[in-house]
Amino acid sequence: MNSKTMFMYDENETGYRFNDTHPFNQKRLVLTVDLLRKAGALPDSFLSAPASASKEQLLTVHSAEYVQAVEALSLPSPDVLTVQAAGKYGLDTEDTPFFPHMHEVTSMLVGGSIGAVEAVLSGTKEHALHLGGGLHHALPSKGAGFCVYNDAAVAIEYAKRVYGARVLYIDTDVHHGDGVQWTFYTDPDVCTFSIHETGKYLFPGTGAVNERGDGNGFGKAINVPVEPFTEDASWLECFEEVLEKTVARFQPDLIVSQHGCDAHAFDPLAHIHCSMEVYRAMPRFIHRLAHEHCGGRWVALGGGGYDIWRVVPRAWSLLWLELSDHPLIRELERNPGLALPPSWLEAWKPYSEEALPHTWLDPINSWTPMPRREEIVSKNRHTKELAMMYL
Ligand SMILES: [Zn+2]
Ligand SMILES: [Zn+2]
Repeated sequence: MNSKTMFMYDENETGYRFNDTHPFNQKRLVLTVDLLRKAGALPDSFLSAPASASKEQLLTVHSAEYVQAVEALSLPSPDVLTVQAAGKYGLDTEDTPFFPHMHEVTSMLVGGSIGAVEAVLSGTKEHALHLGGGLHHALPSKGAGFCVYNDAAVAIEYAKRVYGARVLYIDTDVHHGDGVQWTFYTDPDVCTFSIHETGKYLFPGTGAVNERGDGNGFGKAINVPVEPFTEDASWLECFEEVLEKTVARFQPDLIVSQHGCDAHAFDPLAHIHCSMEVYRAMPRFIHRLAHEHCGGRWVALGGGGYDIWRVVPRAWSLLWLELSDHPLIRELERNPGLALPPSWLEAWKPYSEEALPHTWLDPINSWTPMPRREEIVSKNRHTKELAMMYL
């Protein structure tokens, strides 16, 4: 294992919970950490606990008015006027409802992502992972899509201000990384790359290929909106070709990647049909680019992922295995049928509503190919070409 890697985590991060029935469930962090421990891949020496972001840090991206509203709505029983104003800030919706202590817990998530960037840019670590982060939909003055503060944007802003770094943001969540894109839309020193299911059918509706940045930032927003029911090979083809060109063109000092794993076929909120193979191959590709183009400086964040039993623990564990150069990830190349630790399966089987998978990767040979596969592949190729038009 690479000892210069950091796993940023605190069990208190699971307190980021809107309500008992909300699909965003940080129990997936507990499941992931437990899987890695039982696989012998997360010694305590790699763990680091996040410190909360200061208000000053939040204000580098968010407006004072918004932070004040979030604070007021975080009280156990906010007053009537505060509650009436929640709608103005996007915090009265079914998706992103205000909840007690949300300012405190979200500040910790933001602090975790800042801490990961600091560890990497100071040279203390080469790579850092913060799975509690990746809240990519939050806007400067509005909560949206399960996101209150945008930890990714604040951490990127930190990298710019404190280290003068040029940052490449790579968003692999099935939903467009809109909050980060709009925050840096005119900024020539931050390039945002997002591959996602087309906004024609899915929240947040943006991320069209012709959103390319504006003013000095033109050409620094890259969008690859793929078709519903896209499968592994087509997803990876689009991702790798466009990203390779983007990195070569932009020459970043730091890569910050967001790893929502809701493009998996089992995910209940979207319609992409990828398997765990994408979550093995994609981090490997980013890892190589980080070493080739920016001295290995790579910060990886979490994101969406709503099949918390069958998808998230495996996808995020694979990310850590790759990032930390754990021998298991190479073993998986030799043996794609490698089994998950039986002790993990035993421990969680009683709680999961679905039958837990027994292997790290999915048995895709037994999956039915998508009807219209050829049409989807060809539409995605066309989108890929358009995305690379200015690269
Ligand atoms: Zn490395
Ligand atoms: Zn998502």
